Amino acid sequence: MVYDIVIIGGGAAGFFSAIQACELAKKKLKILILESSPQCLQKVKVSGGGRCNVTHHFSGVQRFVESYPRGEKFLLTLFNRWSPEDTVNWFERHQVPLKTEADGRVFPTSNQSQSIINCFYQLIDKYQIEVLIKQQVISIKKEGEHFHIKTKQEKSFSAQSLVVATGGLRNKNFQSVLENLNHQIILPLPSLFSFHIQSDLLQGLAGISFQEVEVKLQSSKFFVSAPLLITHRGLSGPAILKLSAFQAIELHKKNYQCDLMVNWVPTQENILLALKAYKQNNSKKLVSNQSPFAELPRRFWQKIIEHILGINGQWANVSQENLKKICDILTQSQLTMNGKTLNKDEFVTCGGVDLKQINPKNLESKAIPNLYFCGEVLNIDGITGGFNFQSAWSSAYCVACSLVNG
Ligand SMILES: Cc1cc2nc3c(=O)[nH]c(=O)nc-3n(C[C@H](O)[C@H](O)[C@H](O)COP(=O)(O)OP(=O)(O)OC[C@H]3O[C@@H](n4cnc5c(N)ncnc54)[C@H](O)[C@@H]3O)c2cc1C
Repeated sequence: MVYDIVIIGGGAAGFFSAIQACELAKKKLKILILESSPQCLQKVKVSGGGRCNVTHHFSGVQRFVESYPRGEKFLLTLFNRWSPEDTVNWFERHQVPLKTEADGRVFPTSNQSQSIINCFYQLIDKYQIEVLIKQQVISIKKEGEHFHIKTKQEKSFSAQSLVVATGGLRNKNFQSVLENLNHQIILPLPSLFSFHIQSDLLQGLAGISFQEVEVKLQSSKFFVSAPLLITHRGLSGPAILKLSAFQAIELHKKNYQCDLMVNWVPTQENILLALKAYKQNNSKKLVSNQSPFAELPRRFWQKIIEHILGINGQWANVSQENLKKICDILTQSQLTMNGKTLNKDEFVTCGGVDLKQINPKNLESKAIPNLYFCGEVLNIDGITGGFNFQSAWSSAYCVACSLVNG
């Protein structure tokens, strides 16, 4: 039997492309999803701490694509066709109500990723989409009009159209399957991780968070301004995760060993002047008691004053030299990164199938007609907050349109 469509990968992108193709098609399609593991949609299940952060609040395509270190231009086309608003409307239309949290992340109101999974499986049943688990694709060949697909479990399938939705390409075997089809793979690397830092400044302060800091690699001009968290191992929080995504390649080259610069009070101007003025107006107060900057956590200020600089007593006695030292620590702390930890196991891969070889209008391979790609297998990745699922939904929708309309 020749399937109309075989989809490799039973994850978010694979399921969504199959369902969308059935919703768009005017006739019944014979679709098969091949999944290597014993369970489909495993990442959807564990995503967002079990709540599945399906997308992010939308305030225009231009703004939205800025959250993608790789694939920004490509996504402009995709989001114009399937936007985060389309995602929200689609789930609501399929009886999965969603809510937007204060930071812009969108979740099912049930707070359970299972709501998404149940919705998908109902539609898989409705459209009689075949799903085979424990079928790891190890070979793809195109002969004439048809694709021939073989699995490690010694099964063979044929299809008119083939969709590759295998997620982040960490598996070398599948990389070579795609390379044999003349598709170049950009080296897959981790994105979204926390930084290991051993520093007197951070020691004993795990759990302290900052509303906004500015952080960058010392060797680069690119900086991130966002909330930050001190952890037992170093630094994390939105600022660090975003920096890790935008500097994923650079950090890999440096083997995750490099110097960072942190400005702990980026919203304040002229810190030295502010410190001098505070000294003048509060000369009798104890320096360690209160920081002149309301946004600075008290324990962090005390750490700088008492432990790092060893300043005791009143403001009146703080020398010019020490005012300058406080200013330097607050605005340009140099910290050394010496390793990384993945964000709550949320390993997202930067790298993947080179976008140059894919037509952005229909996500078809430029080398092989009727071969399509969607989801994380492409060299597209976003920061944390629902952006990675959004690129999976949008690319899957565009693939479905191509499958149905040619
Ligand atoms: C713990 C965790 C939490 C996350 N939380 C969020 C979140 O809340 N919001 C967000 O936007 N993103 C989140 N992400 C990222 C998001 O899950 C991925 O970007 C998204 O799942 C990508 O979808 P995909 O379908 O392309 O790939 P996947 O979901 O990885 O699915 C690919 C499927 O293909 C199968 N496969 C691979 N190779 C083969 C083969 N050769 N043959 C057959 N099958 C194969 C795999 O087993 C897998 O089931 C999270 C990731 C992780 C790991």
